[in-house]
Amino acid sequence: MTSARETAAAVRSRRVTAVEVAETALAAAASSTSNAFVTLAEARALARAAAVDAAITAGRDPGPLAGVPVAVKDNICTAGVATTAGSAVLRGFVPPYDATVVARLEAAGALVIGKTNLDEFAMGSSSETSVFGPVRHPADPGRVAGGSSGGSAVAVAEGVVPLALGTDTGGSVRQPAAFCGVFGIKPTYGRLSRYGVIAYASSLDQVGVFSRDADDAAVALSAMAGRDPADATTAARAADELGPVPVDLRGLRVGRIADLWQGVSDGVRAALDGVAARFVESGATVVDVELPLVEAAVSSYYLIAMAEASSNLARYDGTLYGLRLGEARDGHEAVARATRAAGLGREVQRRVLMGSFALSAGYADAYAERAARVRRRIADALQDALAGVDVLLAPTAPTVAWRQGERLDDPLAMYVADVTTCLANLSGMPALSLPAGAAEDGLPAGAQLIGPAWSEARLLGWARAVTAKA
Ligand code: GLN
Repeated sequence: MTSARETAAAVRSRRVTAVEVAETALAAAASSTSNAFVTLAEARALARAAAVDAAITAGRDPGPLAGVPVAVKDNICTAGVATTAGSAVLRGFVPPYDATVVARLEAAGALVIGKTNLDEFAMGSSSETSVFGPVRHPADPGRVAGGSSGGSAVAVAEGVVPLALGTDTGGSVRQPAAFCGVFGIKPTYGRLSRYGVIAYASSLDQVGVFSRDADDAAVALSAMAGRDPADATTAARAADELGPVPVDLRGLRVGRIADLWQGVSDGVRAALDGVAARFVESGATVVDVELPLVEAAVSSYYLIAMAEASSNLARYDGTLYGLRLGEARDGHEAVARATRAAGLGREVQRRVLMGSFALSAGYADAYAERAARVRRRIADALQDALAGVDVLLAPTAPTVAWRQGERLDDPLAMYVADVTTCLANLSGMPALSLPAGAAEDGLPAGAQLIGPAWSEARLLGWARAVTAKA
């Protein structure tokens, strides 16, 4: 499988045309049996490819991602191409505009070849709740791909595309990257625009990138990063600071979040120990760091995520978007009731109900507001941990990919496994998952690096240094 950088170089030097690259990727996506793609964007991809080829012929710069096929999670808007968030309530919804991240990738020469499958509204950790059915693990169809951006992880793992976009609210890029054996990064909150990204929990949501290595991720992030007037939470930071910077690991201080090693399977622990050993071999020191309140992270995360979701999802009421059921003459409430009952799946309904409860009069102080206070303290604890070390090392997920269906009836089992990933969302810090080798049943494990805000270039550099030796 060629990297995004190699593909762009081949297209620029006319060893292959962008149209040929697009056709190959579209054919590979069409023949995949993992249910990773929900919509293929043939016409759009081929038109963009022709434009890239024409630019090259005319001697114009086609951009750093010239002719690179990319897959986009189906909760990120694409003008003229259906965007459903995996929900019946948005079936058939065709956005009139592109998300900023999509527009910027295409401006850099990339070709969006299709939309990928996900948990409904990105709520989940297994990519099993989509109205289009579950995503299957690339190495074992009986296992889950991880989630919620499972389709994007599989699209990269199967070699259909070298780059894919996901969203990461509590781990949805890093955890499926770990399960599928690819690279995944959630940048600092505010690094990438959320404009045109279907909101789940706005204070936690961030777009992330799947790739085969750190260098490809850096090219994609650089193309998308920076201030967007359409998203007031974006930072006015130069995109070219995204590296990865060449690094020397000698003297680097790596903090192992010891609490997160508990409850980790033997195979995942061995894989992580391997990554820690590679840091040490390269001259870094690995020390244990304490993270007070880590046991409250999942509760805080889910209360905040559900509260924000209950507000964000109020718009799917049969008025403006997608599905509309019931008779208009019965009034808005009746239409909303019928539409939401039929259009939103079980897990989404559970979250909207719990989130509304957590925010309701008389309970907000005990739940939503308390969760926000705990969040602040967890963010401070991470900041304190990073005062003594350069980077934190943790498992991306406590186990390898589980079996399809295994946790669907046990939401708590699904939620608690997010303890490793949700820390970076609660604090806004950047975090990535790098392939750490095989664990139980030969399935991939991921190692997570968490760094201070805006440290992506260094994080990517460190990841490259330890992955290259794997
Ligand atoms: N598993 C987490 C949840 O269900 C994270 C999902 C995500 O990052 N989108 O909320």
